Amino acid sequence: MKKRICMIGSGTAGLQLAYALKDDFAVTVVQPRSAEEIRQGRIMSTQVHFGEARNREIRYGMPQWPDSPPIVSVHLTIGDQKLLTGMLKEAAVSVDQRLYWTACMEDLEAKGVTFRWGRIPKEKAGDLVREFDLVIDCTGKQGPLFPFQPVPELTRFDAPRRKCIVGYFVGVKPLEPLGVSATIIPEMGEMFEIPALTEYGPVTILFIEAIPDRELDVFKGIKEGEAFAGKMKEVVQRFFPGIAERIDEQTFALCDENAFLQTAVTPVIRKPYTMRDGRLVVACGDSAFLNDPITGQGCNLASYCAEQLADTIREHARSAWDEAMGEDYWQRVRGRVREVTEWTNAMTQPLPQHVVQFLLGTPGDQQKADQVAGWFAHPDTAHRSFFPDATP
Ligand SMILES: Cc1cc2nc3c(=O)[nH]c(=O)nc-3n(C[C@H](O)[C@H](O)[C@H](O)COP(=O)(O)OP(=O)(O)OC[C@H]3O[C@@H](n4cnc5c(N)ncnc54)[C@H](O)[C@@H]3O)c2cc1C
Repeated sequence: MKKRICMIGSGTAGLQLAYALKDDFAVTVVQPRSAEEIRQGRIMSTQVHFGEARNREIRYGMPQWPDSPPIVSVHLTIGDQKLLTGMLKEAAVSVDQRLYWTACMEDLEAKGVTFRWGRIPKEKAGDLVREFDLVIDCTGKQGPLFPFQPVPELTRFDAPRRKCIVGYFVGVKPLEPLGVSATIIPEMGEMFEIPALTEYGPVTILFIEAIPDRELDVFKGIKEGEAFAGKMKEVVQRFFPGIAERIDEQTFALCDENAFLQTAVTPVIRKPYTMRDGRLVVACGDSAFLNDPITGQGCNLASYCAEQLADTIREHARSAWDEAMGEDYWQRVRGRVREVTEWTNAMTQPLPQHVVQFLLGTPGDQQKADQVAGWFAHPDTAHRSFFPDATP
């Protein structure tokens, strides 16, 4: 009989794990909302998946998105100075998670993965541990449901570094070449412009990372789409002229009434395993490794860790699933977790002088510009650039 594995949560981590494990194990996924509720619900992320994550999705036979606008470049502006347009070696994509998750859920159900509906309260999570051979907590930033211990050297802040303000818009002429555009306004925050695919077709995501209580943090109390779009237009016209000149006044609007969100994340990194009633429980994705979204790494790290966890589980298929397996998984992923976390934390602070000097030297140097674009696809290279003296 196949061993039974339960994922609590079917976001980026839970879904990829379900694909990675479904052929070798009996997989159950517990998820609070039906596919239809997710489809009709609020946006959740800006979800740029870079080359490595996309290649994993292909390997695992996950749904593909040929109509998704290919993100081939990264544009960087500091203040009002456009510094670079770096080219990515492999195109990235951003597919609205409402579309992406529901397609995966329906496909997985058709392929024999069992779905159960319902939000698991903390006090009931132990029931699943008793029922299954392994429980994987994939509850994202709403979790975790188990007491995974914070890792002090990677958990530096006790409050959010940014307010995350996101809207999916029509009526913005895309940048050429199509890509993610980052504008940093020192001491105020950042604006990211991201082409994405939704159920309504291609959109432009405008994503403000506002330093709390500074000039970009002006969306407090806005709960209604039209007011949100109006405030976004005002902020863009005041602080981001490069975007304002591409806005079509007649058509600029959210792509649907649920296409905006406001949130904030207190970063915390936890050791991704614990024991409950003598049984191993592991965590994957934001429930263990939660960073600010400023570097766009959360889905990519969740995807990386899901693959490492699936490989660990398969290698231990014939031995006990105990603390040693949890530690094996942690040792496999901790290098990448550290690189992403330290780089991301550094991006939420004033940039180190050597990085500023490097960036100021990029205009006219395409090799350097491509190197900066590569930071997002390969966070180990970003970490080396930010922390050249770090021990591996
Ligand atoms: C504004 C913003 C922008 C972002 N942009 C990017 C980006 O461009 N690129 C990138 O890589 N990352 C980005 N991220 C981060 C990325 O969205 C997350 O890191 C990623 O989705 C984490 O995946 P996950 O599976 O751990 O959690 P999630 O994708 O959040 O999924 C969690 C799942 O658990 C379920 N769940 C929660 N609690 C329970 C419970 N008690 N019982 C049952 N189910 C439960 C939820 O319903 C959901 O299905 C962004 C995040 C934010 C907030």
